[in-house]
Amino acid sequence: MGTPACGVAQDPLPDADPSDMGAKDIKKGSSNGLGLTFRRDGRFIVVGGRIDEFADYGPLLLAEPPLKLVLRDVRDINSHGLRRWIQFIGKWGLKTIEFHECPAVFVEMANLIGDLVSPNGNMKRIKSVLVPVQCIPCDKMGTRIVQVTDVIYHSETSAEVAMLPCTRCQTPVESLVALDDFFWFSQLTD
Ligand SMILES: [Zn+2]
Repeated sequence: MGTPACGVAQDPLPDADPSDMGAKDIKKGSSNGLGLTFRRDGRFIVVGGRIDEFADYGPLLLAEPPLKLVLRDVRDINSHGLRRWIQFIGKWGLKTIEFHECPAVFVEMANLIGDLVSPNGNMKRIKSVLVPVQCIPCDKMGTRIVQVTDVIYHSETSAEVAMLPCTRCQTPVESLVALDDFFWFSQLTD
């Protein structure tokens, strides 16, 4: 998506907590294979890069639950990577794991393949997502962090979320995705 330099800047990080819960083996700035990087940020682990066949989830599997993954820097998921990720989720099993700031590439795939999130259909593991948005007057694109619990459903096919306006011109931003489709996962029951 767009860079934070544009008027529709990306929202800030979730609140960092200095407590050292979980994932003690993840070193700050450590790189992992060719495709994926893991970086500690307080009690979160920021996952970045490509979910591909080179991704090694060994360090994450050694972590203590709860595992809180921030996925905003995930750029791409290929088909081999998808299989490996699902294997990782299966191995993690029913221990607590949370997904924060999930980008569209992850959300759209999770809507199709629930195993991406949970081996038993627990889609509540997705805590927040990045909704692609644009400011029409500024002709800029960006994202907005939306907590899944903040989505309001008027009906099964009509969803609404409050999003911060454009930081440059204060015009309300327009979602680039159909919100009822994008948040489909949140309506799936276990
Ligand atoms: Zn604007």
